Amino acid sequence: MKENTKELRQSIIDACLLMNSSGLNQGTSGNISVRTDEGILITPSSLPYEDTLPGDIVLLPGNGLSGESIGSHRPSSEWRFHADIYGDRDDIHAVVHTHSTYATTLSMLRKDIPSCHYMIGVFGGDSVRCADYAHYGSEELSQNALLALKDRTGCLLGTHGMIVCGSDLKQAMWRAAELETLCKQYYLACQLGEPVILSKQQMVEVRDRMKTGYGVWPKE
Ligand code: 13P
Ligand code: ZN
Repeated sequence: MKENTKELRQSIIDACLLMNSSGLNQGTSGNISVRTDEGILITPSSLPYEDTLPGDIVLLPGNGLSGESIGSHRPSSEWRFHADIYGDRDDIHAVVHTHSTYATTLSMLRKDIPSCHYMIGVFGGDSVRCADYAHYGSEELSQNALLALKDRTGCLLGTHGMIVCGSDLKQAMWRAAELETLCKQYYLACQLGEPVILSKQQMVEVRDRMKTGYGVWPKE
């Protein structure tokens, strides 16, 4: 389990700056959290990332669900789905939420992304689901996200954006870039025709191959 250090807080800010500079997000949209031994470290609500300092990152003690927050800012309005994901999944230690352009565009269609490319397997199944719409920051949105994330490490949020998860922040950020790329490729292919979808059996084989360590690296 990570320790609540200044370096860890800075790594969250660095990831926020990277998600904006790499086109995975814009403005104060999106939010990032990491699970630590003291609780959940999460970005403050609507504070520009370029103005955020390590001390501005908010700590939600324990499982994050007590309603208590430690810090001088309000936690992200999406603190509930971050806390609920950690509560539901022992394997997840970092959660990234973005409003990246192609994922958000496809989320407006409210459709799951099928296995249009083998990299869908990175998210644990043969599709990336799209969660039903609910207002941002609501408990209902959190419940919808948990359903869409069942046995998966990424999902779209209907008419909103994406959530990706990882065993650490580096892996979650990698998945954010991969999901946005897949959404872009699927969108472009749909402009030219009907993409061929890999079969369930082909996706089982892909995931078996990936079990040998694809997308997993030694922890820093
Ligand atoms: P916060 O600034 O409160 O994290 O909200 C951004 C967002 O993306 C809400 O869904
Ligand atoms: Zn959002």
